Amino acid sequence: MSMHKARKRFGQNFLTDHNIIDKIVRHIQPQPKDLMVEIGPGQGALTRPLLDAVEHLHAVELDRDLIALLQRQIHPRRLTLHESDVLKFDFRTLSATKQHDLRVVGNLPYNISTPIMFHLIEQLSVVKDMHFMLQKEMVTRLTAAPNSKHWGRLSVMVQYHCNAEYLFTVPPQAFSPAPKVDSAIIRLTPRDPITPTAQDYALFARLVNQAFTQRRKAIRNSIKPFLSAEAIESTGIDPSLRPDALSVAQYVTLANTAVTDLGA
Ligand code: SAM
Repeated sequence: MSMHKARKRFGQNFLTDHNIIDKIVRHIQPQPKDLMVEIGPGQGALTRPLLDAVEHLHAVELDRDLIALLQRQIHPRRLTLHESDVLKFDFRTLSATKQHDLRVVGNLPYNISTPIMFHLIEQLSVVKDMHFMLQKEMVTRLTAAPNSKHWGRLSVMVQYHCNAEYLFTVPPQAFSPAPKVDSAIIRLTPRDPITPTAQDYALFARLVNQAFTQRRKAIRNSIKPFLSAEAIESTGIDPSLRPDALSVAQYVTLANTAVTDLGA
């Protein structure tokens, strides 16, 4: 066993259950020629079985001690280690074709999983698919449908870009140290933006954010800075609805109407 002491500030919960590790790898279905990057390889719990399947792997890790440990154990021809904060890492530099050729995997540090999602959303043009271990609650939100209590800003923004699939739940005992909560594996696959496409993406993001900052309020009130009740009604959407009742496409419709209104 390795002597590395898990660092809480780096969100280190190492996978130790080999059945779970095998199950994750089976769902990823790594192929020899895949262009793959692992976020937070840690002590290599996923890295090693992935390297049994792929010829080469990239990994982004912040903890220098873990980098040193992996460097001692895995040949650099197989594993290219990038010592970096994942939130600053430019995944586009890894892509060969710049078009959806990169597979991203990882048991993510839970303390920064939301910023990691938003960071990756900006780089999806090079991403083929993503498989992540996250807090179960986060996977539930990312894969939620409208009219559920889990449907929120993150669900809308991620599902605007990706198909999101809940693969399976992982109990705390699969890790050392055990986290306090259940975890789950999610698959995210970038797709062409749903129709209609947001004409002004930044405005769409601001409108969604604004709507969900007041979850219990009718959108007529919460998105007033963007659209009047009449303007909302003109799109065929009921202004008395709460934010969790609207689909991604309806948010896009509202944002596109706001573009026209604000531009007028
Ligand atoms: N993959 C290993 C496993 O499954 O056992 C470790 C997973 S552990 C939950 C998260 C990993 O992400 C740790 O290795 C940690 O050092 C690394 N990490 C934490 N914050 C990071 C950051 N900002 N950038 C890159 N790696 C980070």
